[in-house]
Amino acid sequence: MISSHSTLYRQSPFYVQEEILALNSRLRAALSARSKLRHTAASIERSQWLAPAQWQALQLESVRQLAEHARQRVPYYRELFAQAGIDPARWRHLEDLREIPELTRQDVIAAGPRLLAEGGSWLRFKGSTSGTTGQAMPGWRDRDAIAFEQAFVDRQAQWAGYRHGERRAWLRGDPVVPMAQSGGHLWRMNRADNMLMLSSFHLKPENGAAYIEALERFDPVMLQVYPSSMSYLARWLEDHDRVYRGRALRCIVTSSETLSDVDRQVIAERFGCGVFDWYGAFERVAAIGTCEHGRYHVMEDYGYAEFEPNGDGTANLIGTGFGNRSMPLLRYRADDRVVLADPAFECSCGRRFRVVERVLGRVDDAIRTPDGRHVVMLDWIFSGLPRLIEAQVVQERLDEVRIRIVATPEFGLRAEEALVQRARERLGTQVVIRIERVAQIARTRNGKFRQIISRLSKSGDSNV
Ligand SMILES: [Zn+2]
Repeated sequence: MISSHSTLYRQSPFYVQEEILALNSRLRAALSARSKLRHTAASIERSQWLAPAQWQALQLESVRQLAEHARQRVPYYRELFAQAGIDPARWRHLEDLREIPELTRQDVIAAGPRLLAEGGSWLRFKGSTSGTTGQAMPGWRDRDAIAFEQAFVDRQAQWAGYRHGERRAWLRGDPVVPMAQSGGHLWRMNRADNMLMLSSFHLKPENGAAYIEALERFDPVMLQVYPSSMSYLARWLEDHDRVYRGRALRCIVTSSETLSDVDRQVIAERFGCGVFDWYGAFERVAAIGTCEHGRYHVMEDYGYAEFEPNGDGTANLIGTGFGNRSMPLLRYRADDRVVLADPAFECSCGRRFRVVERVLGRVDDAIRTPDGRHVVMLDWIFSGLPRLIEAQVVQERLDEVRIRIVATPEFGLRAEEALVQRARERLGTQVVIRIERVAQIARTRNGKFRQIISRLSKSGDSNV
């Protein structure tokens, strides 16, 4: 496969780049485990309607099988289970899984290849965390694991009203357009997937009209996007007092970053369709997605998720994913937190999977203050400020934050003062708040937007 990160791709002409994208898709399809995908798709089509006692029984069986596989094939677990006298065959309840100590990111890095299953598929693909915090953690997946994941992504696309093969557009972290290109077509057509791929690295006020026109012309049924990229376009429309005019659009599916209520609202308003959000941990230990009624369901047929309450309505996520037998992770402590919902709540979609209020995203992305506050979601301070396009909060010292903003010239001093005032309400009076106007806010290597960047050291472990 020729990556769009490669020099060969970057230096190829436009039409060759489109051929490369299509070729990659065809190769991916040829290598995919199609029967596994069909089988999983059929099975989870049924399991989404199971009653709690039924999906819990299914989870217990899946957890036992996975742990038994780990005991037999994975050196790390073979030793651990032998030392601690753990025998999955004895488990009668999901809680029994807690015999296994939780697994942290550091444990995974330290265990290295001892976490890989012996005798598994020879064809494995390596992924890695983006490396924004500390050391990158490698993760291995085989074809079955990729097909398993795909089945769940496809199921949510169906909830959103999309049917396989229909036109879709993609606005995520793929560098389909070389950075050096500044104008012209800021997208590439992937004909093998009937998909228009737009660059999230070229979003600037002067390109807004071109992006919207390209989308309206292609007229996709579904948009698969990073929330930050989509809200950028939605705010551009708002600023120009326009709405999106594509007629086929049925749904927008966001993932990979935290979607705030404010962003969801402005996207839904300007694009005139439902916004579905998907959370999938990189480590593939849990998945949470919104249904037709906008509720975040824990995908109970994807993995077994434990929520460890923090006492303030939020909970840490510890997950055991069922899909990856090449590198099974049991009770992995994910970096993400959720806000718990009322356990008695029953969603009107009819699915009885647990519901959480929202996914808060990574624990590291928080602002700390001298008076001990720990603030995660800051989107409220930016809501309803016209002419403000994007904002990012950067903290380098405990008593100071910088708010970097991209705004039109009409966003004047008075608006800046309003912004500082709101930030002060959240952060208190002991923090100096500075506004810094910038032309553009850089994305991470994966094209992600980070609303909060903290460069404070955390127990000797610095990030960014
Ligand atoms: Zn629902």
